[in-house]
This record gives sequence, C-alpha cells and structure tokens, in this order.
Amino acid sequence: MIPVLIVLNAGSSSLKFQVFDMLDNAEPRLVWKGLYEGLGGAAHFVIRHARGADLDEMSWNSGEEFGHEEALAHLISWLREHQEGRKLAAIGHRVVHGGQSFSRPVLVDDSIVQALEALVPLAPLHQPHNLEPIRIMRRRLPGMPQVACFDTAFHQTQSDIASLFALPREMREGGVRRYGFHGLSYDYIASVLADYDPRLAEGRVIVAHLGNGASLCALKDGVSVATTMGFSALDGLPMGTRCGAIDAGVVFYMLREMKLTPEEAESVLYKKSGLLGVSGISNDMRMLRSKATTNADAKRAIDLFAYRITREIGSLVAALGGIDGLVFTAGIGENDVATRAEVMAGLTWAGLTMDESANRIGGPRISTGSGPSAWVIPTDEELVIARQTRSVLESTQAKLAS
Ligand code: AMP
Repeated sequence: MIPVLIVLNAGSSSLKFQVFDMLDNAEPRLVWKGLYEGLGGAAHFVIRHARGADLDEMSWNSGEEFGHEEALAHLISWLREHQEGRKLAAIGHRVVHGGQSFSRPVLVDDSIVQALEALVPLAPLHQPHNLEPIRIMRRRLPGMPQVACFDTAFHQTQSDIASLFALPREMREGGVRRYGFHGLSYDYIASVLADYDPRLAEGRVIVAHLGNGASLCALKDGVSVATTMGFSALDGLPMGTRCGAIDAGVVFYMLREMKLTPEEAESVLYKKSGLLGVSGISNDMRMLRSKATTNADAKRAIDLFAYRITREIGSLVAALGGIDGLVFTAGIGENDVATRAEVMAGLTWAGLTMDESANRIGGPRISTGSGPSAWVIPTDEELVIARQTRSVLESTQAKLAS
C-alpha cells in the first residue's frame, strides 16, 4: 500500500484539497487535486488528475444542505472508492494563524485545537474556517494524524524590531505585533531559489506574492527578515478586495463620523476595497486589464496596485540593505505580464532591467544584465503543507520508536 496524505485548505464556502503519494525518499507526489465550491448553498465538486485532466465532477442543489461536513464525508468516500492500493496516512491543514507560539507545523491533539481556537480573534475571518475541517476529521477519522501548517510560522525568524508596532509595551505582550502571512508560499519559493540561481538562495531576495491576497517578503539566506503584512492579512499592499496599509485614523473616521459598526467597517476594509473598491468593477486583474484602456477607474486601480508594490519593494530593499533578486509569484505575479513590467519600470534605480521578451513568455528569468535579477517562479503552497505534514509524521513516528 502506498501511504497518501490529504492537504486541506478551507475557506468560508470552499474547500480545496490535494492528495499526495508519499514514496520513500522522494518529494510528496501529487496524485489528485480538487475543490468543493458553493458550500452551504448550491455546492459543486470537481477533482482532477495531477496532470490536469478532469476526473470526476458533481453538483448539489441549494436545498440539499451540503456544507463542509458533507464535503469531507464525500471526499473520504470518494477516496475510498478510488484509492487503488493507497492508504490514507495523514491530513495536513492550512491554518492561517499560529500566533506567537507556533513557529513550526504541529501534530494536532485536544490541547492544540484549544490553542488554535484561542487564536480566532487574531484572524476572525479565516481561522474558524481552517479549524472546522480539523474538528470534522477528528470526529470522522479518530486516530488519523492531522498536522496544522501555519501561514505565519515562516516569519518567526524576523527580528524583534521588524515585528514591532510602536504601540504601548503591554499591547505587544498581549500579542499585538506584526506576524506576516503567505508564509507557506514564501517557504516554497525559498526552497527552490537555488534551482534557479544558487546566489539567490544565499542572497537578498524580495518575493512578491501577488494573488487575490498580496504581500511582499524580504528573504536573506532564505529566511524571512521583513514582510508587508502585519497583525492581520489586511496590511501592506492593496489586494483584490482588501485595502492594504491605510492610516488607522481612517478606521476611527468610519466608526465615528460615518457611523459604521465595527463589523461594517471590517467588511469595507476586507471585502469592498482593494482593486474592487478602487475600480468599482472587479477584484479580478484579468477583467481590469481588459477594461483599462477605456475605463479610467480600472486603470486607476491597476496603477495604484503597481505603485504600492514598487514603493513597498523600495522599503524592503532598505530593510535588506540592497537587493540581489526579485521574484514574482501567485496568480497575478505568475501571469500578468503588464504588472511585472509596470513594477520593474519603477525599479531601475535598484539596478533591475527588464528583459521584455522573457517577460512576455513568463521567464523564468525576466531581467537582463549582471545586476540584481528578476524571476517568475510558480508557487506551491500545498506541496509545502505536504512536506511539513510528512516531516511531522516522520518525527512523531521516530519519537514513538525510540
Ligand atoms: P490567486 O489568488 O493566486 O489565485 O490569484 C488570483 C488573481 O490572479 C486574480 O486577480 C486573477 O485575475 C489573476 N490572474 C490569474 N490568471 C491571470 C492571467 N492570465 N492574467 C492576469 N491575471 C491573472
């Protein structure tokens, strides 16, 4: 039997999953990947082979009460029917917040579940959805090892100063500090830098994770020294629907003068801002690009996005004391030729020169000259969760055996 692990990434109405074979002495190998969408309403399931061909698909109508519980029950029985000589060995979960105490992935038990629940106030819009499948799987598959892998953990290497807000000391002691997110993506990029150029792995590299969520991370010797996201996943760059860094005074104005409730203000900042809010059209970069030549609001949203990325890269170059490499990743970073060109155009002062034809075909190297280099590197957060889950599993088994 080949041991397999499932990687789960749960949102409020979606559940993404990937299934990996764990072969001896080899990287976890993707077998299937899929998605449940529309959970709690008209749900839809699709599963594909690793190489991309659709394998199975199913829909439920909105009267059928199909939520996360039902999706996981369906996934377990689908896998049992199709497992062909495979045996489930562990489940790895993406968990957005590991707080101050979790600097590495962890095997889940009762006390860990409690500790992760205590972190819900730090990420109220994401953490509860991440914890739900952990609880469900503990009930449905008691004894199955489950590992929580954190988006914050990669940034625990940052210095005290880099993670500090200029707030009263007791607030920091109460956990109000910069945590940083997208750590699973940065972990993956750091792990493959040497394959692209060994000098990057030991150099000063800025990674631009530009997807629907967006942030930058400054890496030195492959570890995080600074990032644009802070206490919450709202900080830093403008995103699909999130505002990025704003003056905290705006929040008081929203509450006091605009008479918004905290929930309404939160919804504006998380769900109605960013590319969507500025354009008034969409959070989808493809849509905005298609309208940018004729619609001034679409163009303004894109221009602000590129401007903020360029400015924040400048700040991270200062934090690193220079730059050896710039990496674009995630949906926009990997695919949007124009965003890469706009950002690079603002970085000639840092010695970065765009290779336009390489940029058009997606690199991987998109810069010319002997100065700092720029790259397009596809990220793979699920593979990092699979690697981390396997490593926790193996070290637990080793401890039990000794
Ligand atoms: P992610 O959250 O990483 O899936 O990224 C989602 C973002 O990537 C959305 O803004 C998409 O519009 C954008 N995106 C995906 N594919 C493309 C593409 N081919 N060109 C431009 N933007 C893209």
